[in-house]
Amino acid sequence: MELLKNYIDGSWTSSIEENTKEVINPANQQILARVPFGKGTSKDLEKAVLAAQVAFHDWKNVPVMQRVQPLYKLKTLLEENTDQIARIITMECGKTFAESKGELQRAIENIETACSTPTLIQSEFSENVARGVDEFMIRQPLGVCCCISPFNFPGMIPFWFLPYAIACGNTFILKPSEKVPLTMMKCFELLDQIGLPKGVVNLVHGGKETVDAMLEHPLVKAISFVGSTEVARYIYQKGSAYGKRVQAQGGAKNPILILPDADLDLSSKIIADSVFGCAGQRCLAASNIITVGDENGLVKDSIYHASLTKKTGYGLDEGIEMGPVISKESKSRIEQLIQIGERDGAKVILDGRNHKVPGFENGNFLAPTILEDLPIKSELMKTEIFGPVLTLLTLKSLDDAIEFINSNHYGNMACIFTSSGASARKFRNEVNSGNVGINIGVAAPMAQFPFSGWNNSFFGDLHAQGRHGIEFYTQTKVVIERWPKEWSRKF
Ligand code: NAD
Repeated sequence: MELLKNYIDGSWTSSIEENTKEVINPANQQILARVPFGKGTSKDLEKAVLAAQVAFHDWKNVPVMQRVQPLYKLKTLLEENTDQIARIITMECGKTFAESKGELQRAIENIETACSTPTLIQSEFSENVARGVDEFMIRQPLGVCCCISPFNFPGMIPFWFLPYAIACGNTFILKPSEKVPLTMMKCFELLDQIGLPKGVVNLVHGGKETVDAMLEHPLVKAISFVGSTEVARYIYQKGSAYGKRVQAQGGAKNPILILPDADLDLSSKIIADSVFGCAGQRCLAASNIITVGDENGLVKDSIYHASLTKKTGYGLDEGIEMGPVISKESKSRIEQLIQIGERDGAKVILDGRNHKVPGFENGNFLAPTILEDLPIKSELMKTEIFGPVLTLLTLKSLDDAIEFINSNHYGNMACIFTSSGASARKFRNEVNSGNVGINIGVAAPMAQFPFSGWNNSFFGDLHAQGRHGIEFYTQTKVVIERWPKEWSRKF
């Protein structure tokens, strides 16, 4: 069984740590590889930081137009290798082949956006702030920057950060999720071919030990994290206490509000895709569907039918629309949450538990599940399930719906389906959420916009992607200079 290596200072090197964790295909429990996991990974991290620090001294002075040239090559290589990488994503993460290709497209869009860094990083200049005095602001890189990524988008999330960080002149260390490290192993094979100086990008495996070593290392200047809220908060607090710049994206509980004037023919499939796409393991997956008024029967029927017909199975098989969840532990946690819903009074009107996929009896499969009549006070209304489970809730008015949505401690995404511009405008204006969808089921910002989680869905200031990425990965320096006319020499 392959034991995965780190990529440090331009070479593939074995970890100092001998303990390992298995990388498992969630559809059939096949062991795909072993990843270093334990205390020794903090020593691997130390090696990577030193290599990245040495590389930084020169890389920061490479002209920005040259720094983005390798990204153009990376884009081409990712496009040429999309099918192969997508197969790896599906094997280790479980999502369907089409979903895996979709996330790679999003990765490529971030690389394309980061290729605009020569423009995005341009300085601001004011002439004559006083007589004979000019002032300008330049952006300089920070140094060694680290990224810790979650399991659910192994091919996309590292590219929310890496292209911007290096285009701005920083060096970079990635720790992928130990559950899905193979996707980035393949991507780093490609990163090895694009002409970056050694030490500019590095990959170190592991878990908490690697992360703590990043948080504590004095040469690490910035941390980008995506994962659960509990860990995001820990990373933000500890990283900040150690003087680092931190952006930490956390979990979510996303509502979709359907007003009586919504076009159900258009909406129900989009809504079912939002809930059940990637088996509900998206931080932008909707999990509370809210209707207002008395006429909710039609909504319920149309979403029920759109959910019922979702074909669940192995993501590499033809026609499959939903794969397994990531692990056996995750599956049983989701089943327990459904039970809690039942205990609190919910009716399970579509039950995806005990779903068997022929040929994949060991897989972590759950089919779409819908709960109705869950009391508004139930903790489950506010708990991130991160699986293919939907609760249906009916409230009296748009105001009540906004109040309910704003009572949630997360704030990643809120969507509304309506044909009323005025209702949509009120919703987008009043809802406490950083990403808002209007007749959109998954309000994922394109690469040129920031991924704007709020509340407990985000800790920090500057978000991932686009201009925020440039601002996060640079520090401003303001220069004020005086060159009075009288000082100019006569030649
Ligand atoms: P996770 O928090 O368990 O793990 C994320 C990363 O943190 C992994 O690399 C893991 O090794 C590391 N980690 C885990 N425990 C740690 C600890 N105690 N100390 C230090 N590091 C630790 O998250 P996950 O299960 O991989 O991903 C799912 C979560 O990520 C969900 O909550 C989902 O909503 C969230 N997510 C959020 C966004 C977003 O943009 N807000 C995007 C994707 C996923």
